[in-house]
Amino acid sequence: MPASPTLWTSQELRDATQGQLPGEVKVHGVCIDTRTLQPGDLFIALIGHNSDGHRYLKQALEAGASCVMAHDKTAIAEAGLADDPRLLQVDDTMRALEDLGRYRRSQFTGKVIAITGSVGKTTTKNMLATALVPYGQVHASVASFNNHWGVPLTLARLPKEASFCISEVGMNHPGEIAPLAAQIRPNIGVISTIGNAHLGHMGSIDAIAKEKATLFAALPASGMALCPENSQGLARLKDALPAGTPLWQVGMTEQATVQITDLACTAEGSHFHLVTPQGEVDVELKPPGPHLARNAALALGVIAALGLSPAAGANALRHFLPEAGRGQQRLLPGNVTLLDESYNASGPSICAAIETLALMPAGRHLAALGDIRELGQFADAEHRALAEPLTKHNILTFCCGSHMKSLYEALPPSLQGGYAETSAQLASLLQPALRDGDVLLVKGSLGSNMRTLIALLEQPV
Ligand code: ATP
Repeated sequence: MPASPTLWTSQELRDATQGQLPGEVKVHGVCIDTRTLQPGDLFIALIGHNSDGHRYLKQALEAGASCVMAHDKTAIAEAGLADDPRLLQVDDTMRALEDLGRYRRSQFTGKVIAITGSVGKTTTKNMLATALVPYGQVHASVASFNNHWGVPLTLARLPKEASFCISEVGMNHPGEIAPLAAQIRPNIGVISTIGNAHLGHMGSIDAIAKEKATLFAALPASGMALCPENSQGLARLKDALPAGTPLWQVGMTEQATVQITDLACTAEGSHFHLVTPQGEVDVELKPPGPHLARNAALALGVIAALGLSPAAGANALRHFLPEAGRGQQRLLPGNVTLLDESYNASGPSICAAIETLALMPAGRHLAALGDIRELGQFADAEHRALAEPLTKHNILTFCCGSHMKSLYEALPPSLQGGYAETSAQLASLLQPALRDGDVLLVKGSLGSNMRTLIALLEQPV
């Protein structure tokens, strides 16, 4: 049995879910996927679009789960678990996961921080999780677990004794944030950015701001809200704040509550000075890009909003590195530097990646861009708009996918590197065009398969 402390006792599981659990179990973690299950975990059989966790009940116990939560009586009988003392039987596993989250949140006496935004949620969450380590035990969402199951799972995994809980909150459609915020009940709400992501579903920047603002609406008067200075939709954000909840704006002017000064961004990273109500601090970040400096300022602003001096947080951030596909650099065969942004794309994040590419050492700068999804009727205009920063920075551009065709056609001929419909076709166009010393940015929405492009480029020539 693992040495980690007990996360859930049998009685807590029964109280939280109102389910039937005949045996006495000690749960050390919570898991919804047997591929990531650790011995001692509670395995929750959720029903998803493509799979039903009830099919894996036996496998979960064989892998060392201390308890399994299920509702499908047929599946329970088929797995031979009807009388198993380790079975927590509930009416609906999804509802019961939310019950666990709400129950743990009500037990938790540390500070809870919720982060939403059009881009930068995961990066800001990871930066804050790194920066808070010197101040106490930190619990944070894994990866981008920010949706209807990611949020309650984050809360269900929260150790009671932690000092801080950081939960990412995502949305693709109107109305998604409020129920998640009601589960999280944050002390501090952070909006990383408001911009053109998911515009197809949301319709306008104003609608996006209105939706993000529902996170601020969930804050208590004793809470605190943070967002970038002069953010798009600022009036909406202010309107949503409960009376008495302060809003700290983080930015470059003297009006900002948390002020960035002396910002210097190079290929080796960013340096800046940060002035906060809890003291001033010099900040050094290894990964380059002004957008990451802004995220770091927000993260350190949260530390100040908690009433703590940000000095130790800034020190911890010196070692911060981005997650895979969000700006990591590595060498491709042929001495080509890859800026791997293949995780996802939106207009603002492509613009940020272009700014970062422009910081890279002299030599040719190239971009391979896949379609941005979820833009609906705005797709062509949003793709074409990228011609401006690409032209400004003289970036030889390769485009992939039907929407990217609009961008390709809007580029000056000297910057048209090649166009293909699939990432595999793009690889065969791009590979022979690459030269020793080039810097190549690869970016696109998940569905645009830019990871495949990278995998093909990584094969030895
Ligand atoms: P998703 O909702 O797709 O999971 P997210 O909001 O969690 O995204 P991240 O995963 O942090 O955002 O970053 C996604 C992309 O946006 C990356 O390419 C990253 O470099 C870029 N990015 C991060 N922060 C910002 C920012 N403040 N402004 C613009 N782009 C950003």
